[in-house]
Amino acid sequence: MTEPYPYEAPVSAELFERAGRVTPGGVNSPVRAFRAVGGTPRFMASGSGPWLTDVDGRRYVDLVASWGPMILGHAHPEVVAAVTEAARRGFTFGTPTAGEAELAEEIVSRVAPVERVRLVNSGTEAVLSAVRLARGYTGRPLIVKFAGCYHGHVDALLASAGSGVATLGLPDTPGVTTGAAADTIVLPYNDVAAVEAVFAERGDQIACVVTEAAAGNMGVVPPLDGFNGHLRRITAASGALLLVDEVMTGFRVSGAGWYGLDPVDADLFTFGKVMGGGMPAAAFGGRADVMDQLAPSGPVYQAGTLAGNPVAVAAGLTTLRLCTDEVYERCDSVAALLRGAASAALFAAGVPHRVQQAGSMFSVFFVPDERQVRDYDDARSQDVAAHTAFFHAMLARGVYLPPSAFEAWFVSAALDDEALDHVLAALPAAASAAAAAAGGPASPEAKDTLELQP
Ligand SMILES: *Cc1c(COP(=O)(O)O)cnc(C)c1O
Repeated sequence: MTEPYPYEAPVSAELFERAGRVTPGGVNSPVRAFRAVGGTPRFMASGSGPWLTDVDGRRYVDLVASWGPMILGHAHPEVVAAVTEAARRGFTFGTPTAGEAELAEEIVSRVAPVERVRLVNSGTEAVLSAVRLARGYTGRPLIVKFAGCYHGHVDALLASAGSGVATLGLPDTPGVTTGAAADTIVLPYNDVAAVEAVFAERGDQIACVVTEAAAGNMGVVPPLDGFNGHLRRITAASGALLLVDEVMTGFRVSGAGWYGLDPVDADLFTFGKVMGGGMPAAAFGGRADVMDQLAPSGPVYQAGTLAGNPVAVAAGLTTLRLCTDEVYERCDSVAALLRGAASAALFAAGVPHRVQQAGSMFSVFFVPDERQVRDYDDARSQDVAAHTAFFHAMLARGVYLPPSAFEAWFVSAALDDEALDHVLAALPAAASAAAAAAGGPASPEAKDTLELQP
């Protein structure tokens, strides 16, 4: 690319204005709105392999991958063919279909502790259903979650949540009743002593501990020192369940998700994103005796008109079958290359930062003291102004990064040499932009400091 794209994006801007008149904030999921970084969110027109094309006709290398699902890149021909064939056979019947059993079998064969699977439509639904099941199974009310972890917009789990709640710096959650919040105990991530203390006091009231397999929704903060294993030990000792949320990590960081890298036998797991192949499909699963408490085999009710939708199942099943060892090796090597290059460029420009990874997921924290980010408080010590400048300089050079300092970068196996070279070429200028903005005003609308980086 010769010239950076201008800061303004007229066709996107016009659509955003139009959308804002009929949709709150102009978007259907908050982080898409670019509130944290300012400027106009790009309306995408199409995607192919590692590239996105927006309505202004600009091309971007995609390092968001629809927030995780598109591990094979966009419009993979075999996934498109499977979806097209499924659609021709009819969209939904409200009956069981063969593909649902095949997708469940695929998940069961990949993640050893998962003996039964139920399909749902979103990660949010997976987590809320699994929490209900944990409460139904144990007969206990309380749940423990960790600050900075995001489990979808479930009432009881929005307290100190990551993702958009972190990005927008929202106060604790209007619309959630004190009753729903009162049954949630929020602890610092990676703090085993805090978990021990809470269990010592109220362990017999706790239905489950819910944790991201490796936290990715406050930026990437992997579990330290066998943290998940400690959670397994503590919950088992008091008869509580361990619910490991693999909606982000599942089938992304390895064929068995985070479980493949850090095999802790949780009672329940949740999945989404990659397993839907870009369509709305998600799942929860786990121990047979727990899962069999679900209706119709047991008394805990859970249902869905479009759950296991045949078209979504076709996308998910085909994607998982295409996720071979080579795909994960490619994602790992691409991620290693990008981590190294981003860090080197920032180092050369004198920008304090820290790159953290969980398998092929990684993120760049613009933390002034470069210390390891272990929890949500650490993550929030970032210099958001540096991130904003970096983001916009990359965007102007045709690289689409998460528009938030609190989100992971997601690679795909479709990132080829051309796409990677494009990212590498953009990094030095973006690092200089971050250096110029570091320590400056966090206000995203202070765009004079953001644009016109040579
Ligand atoms: C994305 C995500 C969810 C929510 O999934 P949706 O499909 O957006 O409802 C839940 N948990 C984790 C860890 C996630 O990353």
